[in-house]
Amino acid sequence: MIMNKSGVGVCLLLAALLPMAHAISVSYGSSGYSGSVSLSEAYQLDDSAALAESTALSSGGVSQSTSISGTGLNLVSKSVSGSTYGIEAAAQSYGALDMSAALSASGTSGGMSQSVSGAGNIAASSAGTSGADAVCNIAQVENGLISTTQSISSGGSVSGSQSTTLEGEVGVVGSISTSGDSGMVVTGDIIGEGRMDADLRSSDASITGQVSVDGTVWMNSQDMSIVGSNDFGIAVEGLRVAGDGIGTFGVNAAHVSGDAAKKSNVKTNAVVYYQNSPISYTTTGWRWNRANPLVLYLRADKNLASEGLNSNSVRTAITNAADTWDAVTTRNLFYDGGVIVDPRKNADNPYDGYSVHAWKYLSLAPSALAYSRTRYGYPKVNGYYTVLESDVSYNTRYSWTTDLSRAQMYNGRIFDVQTVALHELGHTLGLGDLYTLPSTDPRRGDYSQIMNSYNDPQRTLGNGDIAGIRKLYGS
Ligand SMILES: [Zn+2]
Repeated sequence: MIMNKSGVGVCLLLAALLPMAHAISVSYGSSGYSGSVSLSEAYQLDDSAALAESTALSSGGVSQSTSISGTGLNLVSKSVSGSTYGIEAAAQSYGALDMSAALSASGTSGGMSQSVSGAGNIAASSAGTSGADAVCNIAQVENGLISTTQSISSGGSVSGSQSTTLEGEVGVVGSISTSGDSGMVVTGDIIGEGRMDADLRSSDASITGQVSVDGTVWMNSQDMSIVGSNDFGIAVEGLRVAGDGIGTFGVNAAHVSGDAAKKSNVKTNAVVYYQNSPISYTTTGWRWNRANPLVLYLRADKNLASEGLNSNSVRTAITNAADTWDAVTTRNLFYDGGVIVDPRKNADNPYDGYSVHAWKYLSLAPSALAYSRTRYGYPKVNGYYTVLESDVSYNTRYSWTTDLSRAQMYNGRIFDVQTVALHELGHTLGLGDLYTLPSTDPRRGDYSQIMNSYNDPQRTLGNGDIAGIRKLYGS
């Protein structure tokens, strides 16, 4: 979960702190009647790399094509700017890399595109500004494969796009489009072996396109247009069955404030992870702000029955999960009457105003285990957006149980309803996944928290879960 409506950027540019064998930096400038343009580029390449580049300067203009291939640790960054605009692009790899880039720019406008593909740990980003408008793109994979084509064009206005396919243990995509103080961000992340595809086009503070995880489209242009024309965001936070356990995914679209495109650095350092620490939590930026408790519904239908689940037992499991969160705060967060069983409430409709738990068959999402889809927006109370509703879906492709003695989440893949509900309700209330934090963050390895990933049933909260919910709702 990277998205943050209040303005934390997703355009993580890349650490340049690693020792490199060959450092090259070049700058060009050209002036003409329409103004002047400048181009600077930096390469940190190891012995595995081959670089070919040609640059042509004209009166007030520059054009360039570049190709790089390598198998080691390599980094390239470029920036070009004129009188009213700027464009940047960067790629970093630790593994096999093929990259090609082309740019053409004058004093008043410019365009740059880069195609980056490879295997290993690879990240590519691009950004552009024009006056008060900005766009940026990032795509990143750890231990995997990626192919991303990103372009930026900037002049009187700025637009950007990315078309990215990645498969690996960790994947991140994100695009931001801002104009002055308003804008939009779309992000996707996966943890645990999986695949993500993103086609995103950014301009005029809006984004269109789609993001899919393991072949399922979780955010499409219709969602993005609803988010773009209303004051709310949509966030899907899910669990996935990954090769060696349970992974996560998140896909988000939201408004951002205009400074969101600020770059931040990712550093690579050894890190000692916390163990059941009260510091181990992270928040999403939304919260149940209403005085009335949140009413949860369970859609008791044939999907639930064909799982062999008893609707009363499931009702009890989800009610217990809700009560577990409720018990550690002074607020009465969930309706005391428990989950309401209602076969007519729709599953996974984020726009109907009801918070519904339901079982669904996700034929195209073989690895999706469960996910929450939360709609949130104004009013903002003490800095937190208001949850408007939050649906939780459980995939009927998997076996579920409410009987702790039958649950074998890791080996037998019989998943405990109460464990998964406890995690997903944490998202509903405003806590984020720990496992999607950067690997340098000591909270990421604190597996005592329900908001981390887990391989075994866990019906209780960790110290960080408790501290996080008390931060949001008081103790
Ligand atoms: Zn989660």
